[in-house]
Amino acid sequence: MSVQLEGFDNLKAMYDEDVNFGKIWELCKTGRHEDYFLQDGFLFKGVLLCIPKCSLKEYIIKELHSGGLGGHFGRDKTIGLVKEKYFWPTIYRDVTHYVKRCRICQTCKGQSQNTGAYTPLPPPKSPWQDVSMDFVVGLPRTQRGNDSIFVVVDRFSKMAHFISCKKTMDASYIASLYFNEVVKHHGVPKSIVSDRDTKFLSHFWKHLWNRIGTSLLYSSAYHLQTDGQTEVVNRTLGNLLRGLAAKRPKQWDLILPQAEFSYNSVINRSTGKSPFEIVYGQAPTHYLDLAPIPNSSLSNKKAEDFVSTMNKIHDEVRKKLEQSNAKYKEATNKHRRVKTFHEGDLVWVYLKNERFPVGSYNKLKERKIGPCQILTKINDNAYKIDLPPNIRTHPTFNVRDLSEYHGELESDSWASAFSPRENDAVL
Ligand SMILES: [Zn+2]
Repeated sequence: MSVQLEGFDNLKAMYDEDVNFGKIWELCKTGRHEDYFLQDGFLFKGVLLCIPKCSLKEYIIKELHSGGLGGHFGRDKTIGLVKEKYFWPTIYRDVTHYVKRCRICQTCKGQSQNTGAYTPLPPPKSPWQDVSMDFVVGLPRTQRGNDSIFVVVDRFSKMAHFISCKKTMDASYIASLYFNEVVKHHGVPKSIVSDRDTKFLSHFWKHLWNRIGTSLLYSSAYHLQTDGQTEVVNRTLGNLLRGLAAKRPKQWDLILPQAEFSYNSVINRSTGKSPFEIVYGQAPTHYLDLAPIPNSSLSNKKAEDFVSTMNKIHDEVRKKLEQSNAKYKEATNKHRRVKTFHEGDLVWVYLKNERFPVGSYNKLKERKIGPCQILTKINDNAYKIDLPPNIRTHPTFNVRDLSEYHGELESDSWASAFSPRENDAVL
């Protein structure tokens, strides 16, 4: 049985009259174009499928940002996902517009960015040799009894595995989880950094060693510092889970595989590539790839030797990691943006846990409520807010806890995705 995504065929009839691609289409039909070419009726720019002016653009952005395999990543990462396979001239503007208005992104992302000190460890040299481990604890208990996530990150590729577990599990159990979920894919690590105590780590090694079933001796050295890697991942994971599980907080463990897939698909800032690409040399198939479109990357790229491609990727990553280590060191104090509001403005209000009604706070709940109106501006830093009646807390908030309300998106159906629009320079 094979499967494909329907609907993309409609594109072929749209290039002809399209404002962006009409002329190029004409040129390609009659002769040659340096950058563009036709294949099976589809227009490509290099390996990228050209998308004419129609609401399919919004559909693609929506699926990659918030669809079944999406993770509500921010603007730049979403742009990266779109630009991997598609081309149209206003991608940047359209994605910006979409992500800004995504309700889940507006309500579920935390406040602080880039907090905490960064102490770089020596950069690792290849995938899955140097890992960091951490735990996200204190999550609502699920039906399967899980309340924590064991987070394992490869410090080279930044690939992560999210493994649900119970807080009470001891080092021997964590070691078998590591064996079951990580060793079978990537082998045994050479070094592990963690902020757990050394007693935990030495038990962990001992049990992992047992689980592997060798009587060979080993010795271990400890890095007491963590490299800030898992903290970054945990913040992303927290945002991911809040976005994906806000409606069903007791089932967050069921969406971990989806969170992991989307985390490993997006381009990481410090390597400039997605974890999948670094480890496997290519991105896994997304359901959008099941559209019956000729595989231009295979037919047009010279087949390169797999080994040399991987070596090239790894060299690039090594260079990139060294650069970004240096950059992180430099950029210690980013200044806050100055933001003021006016009376009558609509805002999202960030509720700290002590401000939630008793018993209703949990880590996965949307953190912001709104839109709420500003009743009075007390000064640039303090505002009185018109809160919904169920929130019984003092109505005055610091500007730090308020963020702009950007409006929200209506959900478009697949059926209407191909209706050409008169005025969709911006979606
Ligand atoms: Zn979103």
